[in-house]
Amino acid sequence: MRIDPADVAICLADEGLDEGPGPAPTATPVVQTSLFTFPTFEAFLGAIAEEHRNPVYTRGQNPTVEAVERKIAALEGGERAKCFASGMGAVSAVMLALLRSGDHVLFVNQTYGPTLQLARHLRRFGIEHDVTLDLDPASVERALRPETRLVWLESPGTMTFRVADVAAIAGVAREAGALTCMDNSWATPLLQKPLRAGADLVVHSATKYLAGHSDVVAGAVVSTEELMREVFYRAFLLNGAALGPFDAWLLLRGLRTLPVRLRQHEADALEVATFLEGHPAVARVNHPALGDDAELAERRLGGWSGLFSFELARDDFDAVRTVIDALERFRIGVSWGGVESLVLSPRNAVNAERLREKGIPPSLIRLSIGLEGADVLIRDLERALGRLA
Ligand SMILES: *Cc1c(COP(=O)(O)O)cnc(C)c1O
Repeated sequence: MRIDPADVAICLADEGLDEGPGPAPTATPVVQTSLFTFPTFEAFLGAIAEEHRNPVYTRGQNPTVEAVERKIAALEGGERAKCFASGMGAVSAVMLALLRSGDHVLFVNQTYGPTLQLARHLRRFGIEHDVTLDLDPASVERALRPETRLVWLESPGTMTFRVADVAAIAGVAREAGALTCMDNSWATPLLQKPLRAGADLVVHSATKYLAGHSDVVAGAVVSTEELMREVFYRAFLLNGAALGPFDAWLLLRGLRTLPVRLRQHEADALEVATFLEGHPAVARVNHPALGDDAELAERRLGGWSGLFSFELARDDFDAVRTVIDALERFRIGVSWGGVESLVLSPRNAVNAERLREKGIPPSLIRLSIGLEGADVLIRDLERALGRLA
């Protein structure tokens, strides 16, 4: 794993609030207030004229939230970040701020389900979209339309974890006059910096690795001052998906251990993935370090996090259910990126054909590797897969 020491310093840094000389707290104070008062009306007018920079009301800006926004912006190499009450708050803010009736969005790679559901909902406002799973930049270029305003990219993508060439795709989008927004939740800014590769915006589900302990739901958008102004005034302030000060504080705390957590998630996930690759009940392992995308992934990512999937050799629902139910250390649940290992499949009793149409193998099982240790997890998988013999 190649993590920039400057990023480690950002994760660890005290973000004390400006409290003057004297002893300083090492943890950021939680400014648990809904509003801020001003010494004069003039001072109030000055603050509200630039509400995206100034604490006026916590639905807009709050010092604890701002502390974590500064860190996330610095990690992504962006001019400004805005935190949201969830990753979907961040995703919907980008779309509502930047799109208008008649625009088209191109989704490249397997995309987080609710993000696509939002796109389907936006049809009623005259916003169309397409999905392309062909990641070749020339194919992406052909899928662009004159009215494409936004290219939405996830890399590695949801469920199958295929890696896209962010720089090349952002390049063809820019040529065509479209913005590129990258969902960077899987890699975190420690392992991938999409803005440096030419993307215009980055979104995060900070619920996952950034917070890292399955105890907070949060999101973020990072971009230029100019685009973030649009995101702030046209979406954030109006949608009201504001991150609370205490949740921001949890996120600050999570960020402090992000580098060390990622190193362990990477090491253990690679061990588990390698074990699964050699198992006769497993048809395929979808991990960016293994398989067809490995060379591109090595160039685009500074390392691997702990979320990947595998496909069973048997593709009946019973096999998927048997393995999931037999696991004891992996718990069954949505989300990922915490310290506990989780297992889930997009499969249910009746949707095999629909998954195939979407390019998702029906026997796919997704694992989020926590911090229990690879040996324990491999023994658990070995026992569970043994039930298929
Ligand atoms: C979870 C997730 C989201 C949505 O984030 P929430 O915090 O759950 O709202 C968006 N993108 C990806 C890739 C995710 O995994």
